[in-house]
Amino acid sequence: MITGKNYIGNKLSGEGTKTHKTVNPKLNIQNPTEFLEATAEELEEAVTLADTAFKTYKNTSGSKRAAFLNTIADEIMELGDELVQMYCTESGLPEGRAAGERGRTVFQLQAFAKMVSKDDWRQNVIDAGQPDREPLPKPDLRKTSVPLGPVVVFAASNFPLAFSTAGGDTASALAAGCPVIVKSHAMHSGTGELVASAIIKAAEKTGMPNGVFSNITGRGRTVGQALVKHPKVKAVGFTGSIAGGTVLFNLAAERDEPIPVFTEMGSINPVIITSNALESRAEEIASQYAGSITLGTGQFCTNPGLILTIESGKTQSFIEDLAQKTIAIQAQCMLHPNIKDGYVENGNLVSQQEGVTVVGKIDSEIGENYAASQVNAVSGTDFIANPKMHTEVFGPFSMVVTCKDEQELVSAINHLEGQLTGTIMAEGSDHESLGDVVDALQSRVGRIIFNGVPTGVEVSGAMTHGGPYPASSDSRFTSVGLEAIKRWVRPFTYQGWPKEMLPEYLKK
Ligand code: NAP
Repeated sequence: MITGKNYIGNKLSGEGTKTHKTVNPKLNIQNPTEFLEATAEELEEAVTLADTAFKTYKNTSGSKRAAFLNTIADEIMELGDELVQMYCTESGLPEGRAAGERGRTVFQLQAFAKMVSKDDWRQNVIDAGQPDREPLPKPDLRKTSVPLGPVVVFAASNFPLAFSTAGGDTASALAAGCPVIVKSHAMHSGTGELVASAIIKAAEKTGMPNGVFSNITGRGRTVGQALVKHPKVKAVGFTGSIAGGTVLFNLAAERDEPIPVFTEMGSINPVIITSNALESRAEEIASQYAGSITLGTGQFCTNPGLILTIESGKTQSFIEDLAQKTIAIQAQCMLHPNIKDGYVENGNLVSQQEGVTVVGKIDSEIGENYAASQVNAVSGTDFIANPKMHTEVFGPFSMVVTCKDEQELVSAINHLEGQLTGTIMAEGSDHESLGDVVDALQSRVGRIIFNGVPTGVEVSGAMTHGGPYPASSDSRFTSVGLEAIKRWVRPFTYQGWPKEMLPEYLKK
């Protein structure tokens, strides 16, 4: 049963008067629960508890932290069908997706638990001292990783479980030894409260300090900004729009003590299809990409929003086939009305630019919050001249750019902002001629997929989910996979310490 209240540490609290409701986008009605925005006093209490909890939580052993993370995973599964139904009601996404995303969330928690149950993740470096070294003795140096402090996590709208309350940011920060305060997403606050209840139960069962986790409801401009500005908050994780992420990044930089803000924001994920690939399997690629463009109603940060080709005999028929195949897939519901509004607005902005042709767009009647899939086309020359065409259209939308030659293709890639992914669809015979394209792409993206689709991000130690701005605010880090823990720690060195005073994991 959800209450609409905040979790301030272990306590359910609803002192505020400002409220909001979530929306059932399929039925286009508000859901009944009123969620109470946290007051300034409640925020202060949550941050103070997190700061106090940090003093003990940072020193918990890896095995205790692992038990906490594994118990969160168990408690999420214990929520059973109530969680699945709440997820579907608040997001318009189907039950299969809810179950799949819950599996991914649980897997992430368990993977971080496994990782921190050993000490390797700290990447300790022990450089033993040489007291007898001439002309000067060499000090004993032992470098490790220590947690930053309380972390604020902004839940993402497009993954109500896997990138939200107990998603990758929360799991990696808790694994690192940082208490977490989640700013719940206002459009799935019920799902958020259920997951928060699972985290609180797990914290109590495994003896974690009160304040290791809090869940705050309310709007970004009020509670979100107040959390980022609070001096006891030491880092921020965010997935969402470029506008929102940039405001929070700048706020954090303006603090008396600036703090790191890891934002994962916009990306149109360029896909390069070589002429040889089109020559040999245009229809297969069109089917594969119609599926990828419309997957999850296009509401993935890795959605293929841009397809780049070089003019050949097959290009035009490929574009038409891709458009027909894309719009033949039944229109799906979007996450919430604001996302639908953004889809329409940005889709119109890109489509109205000079030189852009709308090749296919669903024109039958669709539900209020449903997305009309769309495929556009433009020449390489027009695309390069107009950066408005790079705007992310968050939904089942893609644009095919036809370049005159390889030089123009490389120039189009060089004109792009930073991206999460790039993809190359090629034939064996292309391998030797792709060097310049790969070089250009590598400087713009965090991951290159070869002969596949960008949608689908494996949770793995080898994953990079990040890229040059605005894909993310710091391209040195990933927000998916085990390496995501590195965002929440800093290097720290013990010099000349007696062994008995060192932490266990540095005593070798
Ligand atoms: P959003 O509007 O950026 O909101 C994400 C979170 O940030 C929400 O909790 C929001 O709070 C908060 N926020 C936004 N602007 C803020 C500000 N100025 N100050 C403080 N907090 C702020 O993103 P969204 O709701 O998830 O979706 C909107 C658009 O973001 C989408 O249409 C899409 O274009 C983009 N998006 C991109 C990705 C990606 O991975 N590339 C993922 C999701 C969304 P409130 O809502 O409470 O104000």
